[in-house]
Amino acid sequence: MSDHIKTPGPMGASPRCGARTRAGGACRSPAVHGKKRCRMHGGAPGSGAPTANQNARKHGLFTREAFAERREIRALLGEARKLLEEMK
Ligand SMILES: [Zn+2]
Repeated sequence: MSDHIKTPGPMGASPRCGARTRAGGACRSPAVHGKKRCRMHGGAPGSGAPTANQNARKHGLFTREAFAERREIRALLGEARKLLEEMK
């Protein structure tokens, strides 16, 4: 026996769209899987910018390379700090 009708919890707990509607509120339709918007608000398959789209890039502060560089610098600083601590 299916208990689907009696357990709509997972369906209601799915991520919601949240786009602003003409009525002023937020759209509460379920967001398309893997996207933040529903099928009517930009979540449709094939919509949106292609992956690794460079058209909106302004400064590169959030590129994978920049993240990696900062991570390495942080690690190096941590090592240096540890070394200084040991020398005390
Ligand atoms: Zn929507």
